[in-house]
Amino acid sequence: MSYRAEYIWIDGSEPVGRLRSKTKVIPDGVEPPIWGFDGSSTNQAPGANSDCVLRPVSSYPDPIRGGDDLLIMCEVLLPDMTPHPSNTRAACQEIAEKFGDQEPWFGIEQEYTFLKDSHPLGWPQGGFPGPQGPYYCGVGADEIWGRDIVEAHTKACMDAGLAISGTNAEVMMGQWEFQIGPAGPLEVSDQIWVARWLLYRIAEDFDVAATLDPKPVQGDWNGAGAHTNFSTQAMRDGWDPIIAACEALGTKAEEHIKNYGPGVEKRLTGLHETAPWTEFKYGVSDRGASVRIPWQVEVDKKGYIEDRRPNANCDPYVVTRMITDTCCSALSKMA
Ligand code: ADP
Ligand code: MN
Ligand code: MN
Ligand code: MN
Repeated sequence: MSYRAEYIWIDGSEPVGRLRSKTKVIPDGVEPPIWGFDGSSTNQAPGANSDCVLRPVSSYPDPIRGGDDLLIMCEVLLPDMTPHPSNTRAACQEIAEKFGDQEPWFGIEQEYTFLKDSHPLGWPQGGFPGPQGPYYCGVGADEIWGRDIVEAHTKACMDAGLAISGTNAEVMMGQWEFQIGPAGPLEVSDQIWVARWLLYRIAEDFDVAATLDPKPVQGDWNGAGAHTNFSTQAMRDGWDPIIAACEALGTKAEEHIKNYGPGVEKRLTGLHETAPWTEFKYGVSDRGASVRIPWQVEVDKKGYIEDRRPNANCDPYVVTRMITDTCCSALSKMA
């Protein structure tokens, strides 16, 4: 007998990589091997020299096919087995290993918008729904669209063994969120990509698309972000490291913003619970800050911080690498 392994990877699309996958049928008892694909069809290689390599990095029970079938998250390598230029995981792995002794954890809140016929699910054709207000965490057929897809996606993430920690309906009608974490930089990033793949794949069966567009509707409508919650063991133990991490992020604000997903300036306007992308500030319970210290963390004088700047369309390998590098470098100089 055999089982199916769905090999999932990130392509070379600009400005953001897209998910690709294909199925390998593997004899029982055989581990998923290194595999390859035609990089000339994914913006990853020229036609005359098109081979790219898929190396499995993590695997999950396939919640859609069931049985012994697997989802395999892969990284893309060149034929000489060095990381492909589109491979952002390799650099993340280096930093995760460098600062592993500080035990960095991340929880990422992935926001997204369902689309039907290219406009947000539930929106009237050629028009707008009532203004924002009732939709966030709402209930009822006049406010909520796509809950059946969200329920199926949540269950699939749980069955795949992902560290999904919750879901909620968002401020704009048709917009939702799921959270993955807490987990290490590589684990949370692999799992965000797998959870995104599951979202697209499951919505497909409902004839609905999902987009990570950070500002799907211009004007007075919330954008979509990927708030990134972060702690190290020292931050989970005390207050000074919490402040040191916030201060460290402030010293590299511009560099971070540039790598937090294309279109970040359209979303971080200073309205709709954001700080303007040109400014950096942190504060307790402040949803208009770049970095928020949750109120419970101030009460306990320990815990984690929330970087509210990353876009929904960010690459979590890049975001977690930068936060780990910036904060852990600063924290290693304390103590
Ligand atoms: P918000 O109140 O901003 O909507 P959420 O509840 O949506 O927050 O998401 C918070 C995320 O932070 C969750 O994924 C959770 O697992 C994660 N988290 C909790 N504690 C920590 C911690 N110590 N370090 C990193 N992430 C954490
Ligand atoms: Mn949230
Ligand atoms: Mn949210
Ligand atoms: Mn948040």
